[in-house]
Amino acid sequence: MFTRQQTKKIRIGNVFIGAGGPILVQSMANTATSDAAKTVEQIKRLTDAGCEIARVAVPDVKAASRLGLIKKKISLPLVADIHFDHNLALMAIDQGVDKIRINPGNIGSKEKVALIVEAAKKARIPIRVGVNAGSLKSAHSIGNGEGAYLKRAKALADAALGYTAYFESLDFFDIVVSLKASDVKTTVEAYKLYAEKKKYPLHLGITEAGSLFRGTIKSSVGLGALLYLGLGDTLRVSLTSDPVEEVKVAYQILQALDLRSTGIDIISCPTCARCEVDIVRVVNELEKKLPVLRAPGNLKKARPLKVAVMGCVVNGPGEAKEADIGIAGSKKAGVLFQNGRITASLKPKMWVPELLKLIKNELKTRS
Ligand code: SF4
Repeated sequence: MFTRQQTKKIRIGNVFIGAGGPILVQSMANTATSDAAKTVEQIKRLTDAGCEIARVAVPDVKAASRLGLIKKKISLPLVADIHFDHNLALMAIDQGVDKIRINPGNIGSKEKVALIVEAAKKARIPIRVGVNAGSLKSAHSIGNGEGAYLKRAKALADAALGYTAYFESLDFFDIVVSLKASDVKTTVEAYKLYAEKKKYPLHLGITEAGSLFRGTIKSSVGLGALLYLGLGDTLRVSLTSDPVEEVKVAYQILQALDLRSTGIDIISCPTCARCEVDIVRVVNELEKKLPVLRAPGNLKKARPLKVAVMGCVVNGPGEAKEADIGIAGSKKAGVLFQNGRITASLKPKMWVPELLKLIKNELKTRS
């Protein structure tokens, strides 16, 4: 088992990150923040999906002026994402947000950053220093030659270390750090370099990762590599999609490394010429009908319930026997296993209803 890096414990509203605590899942609303009702509605959907920290963009005064109202109507800690204008950050802090995210490099001057730091200190809220390769001047001239990603990663880490040192010189230590690039190698190396020097909690993410399909893969590879190195205290999967999908993907990444649990893990065979049952339909139906898969925040126990759905009696029974609940078989009948023992024989049309019943019963006894 890998060892997680011990970082400083930071409070964000009513949750904590760092110090080896659970890696919290966050997402970002894609509604106009100035439309408080729509934003609240989306954050509530994110909450139901298991999101634990919600971020909103604050592009203008109108958006900043709605933050207090939004915060009142949600249960998650609210993070204000600010670029360019330090006055928006001051307004957001005034509105009672739980954390500010800034990229100090685009706020305009050290003095303006210092004003934000002072206000955050007074309000006792943390600041995420979010360094992004896309907006880092020192990374632009590096080009694409051999080893360029290492140079870019160093530029990112150096920038984050510089900003961290500046915050510390202002006697401010409630810091969370992210070092994002849109490519996996630069991102992983940048986080590694920073973590060798500082122990502030790390917010992980691959920026502009892409569509649901591509972004999920890119994020899984990048975030998976970082998490396996023991790095990361909170994460956001960025997808060009409904943000609820970001939350679902984040939990699956964490579950793959036994770091969090969605409560249930479905193991299913890829199917082949031996398959006599429509396994694709069975698995899709199960996933659709299991509310727990859409509400991973409800169950956070370390060991998920393992459910195996296998298409034949050649390789299927072995896997089904190993699972908590498993089924393997042919169109005549599937052999149902519970905790390694055969308990029934089921015709394919009964697989979904029977598995659902057993899964729900088991989850009830576990919760
Ligand atoms: S379990 Fe059977 S049907 Fe499924 S992939 Fe393996 S051999 Fe093919």
